[in-house]
Amino acid sequence: MTAAEPLAAELSDWRDTIRRFLTDEVEPHYERWEKDGIVPRELYLKMGEAGLLCVDVPEEYGGAGAPLEFSFAIAEESARLGYMSLCSNVMMHSDIVAPYILHLGSEAQKRHYLPKMVSGECFGALAMTEPGAGSDLQAIRTSATADGDGFRLNGSKIFITNGQHAGVVIVAAKDPRSGGKDMTLFLVDTDRPGFTRGRNLDKIGMHAADTSELFFDNVPLAADAALGRAGNGFGHLMDELPRERLMLAVAAVAHAEGALERTVEYVTARKAFGQPVSSFQNTRFELAKIKTDIEVHRAYYEKCRALYADGKLGVTEAAIIKLATSEMEGRVVDACLQLFGGYGYMSEYPIARYWTDARIQRIYGGTNEIMKEVIARALVGR
Ligand SMILES: Cc1cc2nc3c(=O)[nH]c(=O)nc-3n(C[C@H](O)[C@H](O)[C@H](O)COP(=O)(O)OP(=O)(O)OC[C@H]3O[C@@H](n4cnc5c(N)ncnc54)[C@H](O)[C@@H]3O)c2cc1C
Repeated sequence: MTAAEPLAAELSDWRDTIRRFLTDEVEPHYERWEKDGIVPRELYLKMGEAGLLCVDVPEEYGGAGAPLEFSFAIAEESARLGYMSLCSNVMMHSDIVAPYILHLGSEAQKRHYLPKMVSGECFGALAMTEPGAGSDLQAIRTSATADGDGFRLNGSKIFITNGQHAGVVIVAAKDPRSGGKDMTLFLVDTDRPGFTRGRNLDKIGMHAADTSELFFDNVPLAADAALGRAGNGFGHLMDELPRERLMLAVAAVAHAEGALERTVEYVTARKAFGQPVSSFQNTRFELAKIKTDIEVHRAYYEKCRALYADGKLGVTEAAIIKLATSEMEGRVVDACLQLFGGYGYMSEYPIARYWTDARIQRIYGGTNEIMKEVIARALVGR
């Protein structure tokens, strides 16, 4: 038996556990949550209880200290089954916000937030984007001003995943200590006076992934609310982006795989001209092309995951994997929907949701145009 085999067996059992949870606790309600535009808050407590949140957080902070794959498996299984809203909410909490705190937080911050994030008692969000600054993050206007030993936070953010349910938000703000030039990250508890949530925004897909505007009106922050080094917020965001982009790739590949599985089932059962749709050469070639597209991208994704696990996933590879897999996902869900004919355009057919949910992947986490800029910069400079 090789060293990897027990891990593979455990991972396979873990995937069964995740699928069981999704079948029992998510499937019966998901349609309703999509209509409601949000999942119920209690779901996260149930996930915490089942050990499905922040599973790679070390045991000393309440997590299971599991290898990375165990956390990624939650995103994969939910994306494959077409629960992309849930996938995005949980990825933001477990695979983006928790690692920020783990990598940048003081000992006190880790002890305060991480156990509550593992249990689901406190849900996390990351707020960078503003109405006037998305791709151009340096242009943010939210600012912290000095106030005694601490700060006052003013400004607003938009499109914030988990905005409605978040108990803590990592906020990027201009910092007075650098003359308002540089940014610092702050941990903002959502029960602070002056913090308000805007409405849950109405989107074309991923309806149950709550997305909100957040407002900060003179929010008082203690000195120890700063996360990481003062004035190095932009640097910290850049350091953490590879994991965020890798997570989007996990979801993209699994989502494409799920779309293909559903399409194979459909074309095998559906008949036209007295024969299964799967018997037409066009269908067979399309399926073959889709499978090839997915497998090639899965291979590059596996390489990037291994690089990340070794602390070696660079900014350029992270941009390549985000760009490539999200474009592949878009191609795949579109080709799959086509094979469903008119039924593919009906909301009650899950493939329609695969299609609408996939669209955002080319936009968030840095648009694909920005990914091309990052890759080009590595080749020819600015
Ligand atoms: C559902 C959803 C969830 C989100 N979740 C979060 C979240 O949790 N936290 C968060 O902080 N943000 C979040 N975002 C915001 C997302 O990351 C931004 O929308 C994205 O980065 C693009 O910014 P923008 O919308 O301001 O577009 P803009 O920056 O205005 O871009 C408009 C267009 O111009 C292009 N463009 C811009 N600059 C260049 C350039 N230099 N070269 C070529 N083309 C360029 C863009 O690619 C795009 O096509 C979310 C967005 C959505 C829709």
